[in-house]
Amino acid sequence: MLRVFQHDLRDPAHFVITLELVPGRESTGRKIDTVMGIARDAMADGRVSAVSITDNPGGNPSLSPDVIGNEIFKIGLDVIVHFTCRDMNRVGMESRALQLAMMGMKNILALTGDYTGAGFGGQGAPVFDLDAVSLLAMLAMLSERIEAAGDPDGFFAGCAVSPFKLTPGETMAQYAKLCRKEAAGAKFVITQLGYDAGRFAHLLDVTRSMGFDLPVLGSVYLLTPKAARIMNAGRVPGVVVSDQLRERVLAEWRDRETGRQAAVERAARLAAVLKGLGYKGIHLGGIHRDFSVVARILDRLERIEDRWTEFLADFGMAAAQEPAAPAAGGEVCAMVDGPAPALGPLEKLHFNLMRQAHGMFFARGSASAGLWRTLARRLDSHRAGRLIASTLEDPVKRLLLGCRHCGDCGIVHLAFLCPESQCPKHTRNGACGGSRNGRCEVHPERYCVWYRAWRRWAAAGESRRLAEGCVPPRRWELNETSSWLNFHLGRDHQGSGDAFARFCRSRSCRTEALANAADQIRQ
Ligand code: SF4
Repeated sequence: MLRVFQHDLRDPAHFVITLELVPGRESTGRKIDTVMGIARDAMADGRVSAVSITDNPGGNPSLSPDVIGNEIFKIGLDVIVHFTCRDMNRVGMESRALQLAMMGMKNILALTGDYTGAGFGGQGAPVFDLDAVSLLAMLAMLSERIEAAGDPDGFFAGCAVSPFKLTPGETMAQYAKLCRKEAAGAKFVITQLGYDAGRFAHLLDVTRSMGFDLPVLGSVYLLTPKAARIMNAGRVPGVVVSDQLRERVLAEWRDRETGRQAAVERAARLAAVLKGLGYKGIHLGGIHRDFSVVARILDRLERIEDRWTEFLADFGMAAAQEPAAPAAGGEVCAMVDGPAPALGPLEKLHFNLMRQAHGMFFARGSASAGLWRTLARRLDSHRAGRLIASTLEDPVKRLLLGCRHCGDCGIVHLAFLCPESQCPKHTRNGACGGSRNGRCEVHPERYCVWYRAWRRWAAAGESRRLAEGCVPPRRWELNETSSWLNFHLGRDHQGSGDAFARFCRSRSCRTEALANAADQIRQ
């Protein structure tokens, strides 16, 4: 495998440039020629450590990043393959990972992925069997296997994070999930796109405070009017372009050449700010035609990088704030230990009821645990007993949780909300990047289940529980069986002793890391 990206990330003197390319919906023709042309020119230029290739962006079909990535790989340019959880179950994902390993393409950006878009005949089936954290865990476990078989290189997997969320709950959910991703084996981080230097600085503060030694690349984009409109409308999940920025971009592009020049300048200035703040590199997107604009941005960066503090104000941060006392620093304290949000009466009742019931009936090691286990064993030993358990469980859980009868209940990880019925991506390890103002990416008419979970834990003064544990994926062999019996008989993900569950238990996020972040920033 090529190790240029890894090597450059590890070189303390190297400011890493990665370039995001988007393959089109064709297997030959102009789009492919364009992507290959950009890759060849990037290779000749020598400043780009790797190109990253998107995986069905927006959930819509496009050429596989594995295939075009392999073509780019053959010309000697290193590649990062985006690997999402949307289109394949864990069997397909393992198979794909092995295929990538055999091709030597082991730089992976592990993503939960945008929600499913339209393919032939309409919208595709959303899979989301794993999430970004369990995908990272799977890649780490496969790496052990690959290395044990004699290959010196396992996967070099990284993850994404958004520091640009507008509510404390979503921000906390992002950082809590980052903590889980690091624990599960992420080796690098790429941010979502946003234009807020304070938030960029905040993310570095948080990762350092959590004690993570993770190189972070900040996203930079060549912002055209079309992209600014789409991003401002929230049609690229997780990306934030404000109304003012959209208007500014539209005004700049009244004259095409002025617009293009302004876009190059904005990208170079943001790159300079990121370098100045201490980012390990930039992840450059929005390049769809040719490499020349990348070269212009990088040339300009080289000329202006020493003046980076002058550009902080362009991205909403006064120079005086830079970078020792980031504006958002105190927010971590607020997120971890800050004032509790007030829950509505029904939400409070539901949370307290579920919590108490859980403590009484589903607490491992409690005085009554043996009794419930004995009862579960009896019920489970014959068909009528299993029927009785299901008949008792189903209506209660359907009413209280919208239960889908998955048989491997995950509500304990989400402040007693159901990841199957409440999250369209069934995430068990934290929020995807797509929420906006607390609302779900897929169903904006309702709140993101992780935002609700944060509100519940924060109201109870336990918001760090959002990062607690590494949650193995749902066990599909338990589908439509009684989760109560499965829990008490140790068959569900909480009691299972399988390799994934064991790996997960050994790689849990240290939730004190979040508290450390708060403490260190407070000082
Ligand atoms: S509920 Fe939250 S985590 Fe689930 S899809 Fe919606 S925004 Fe993403």
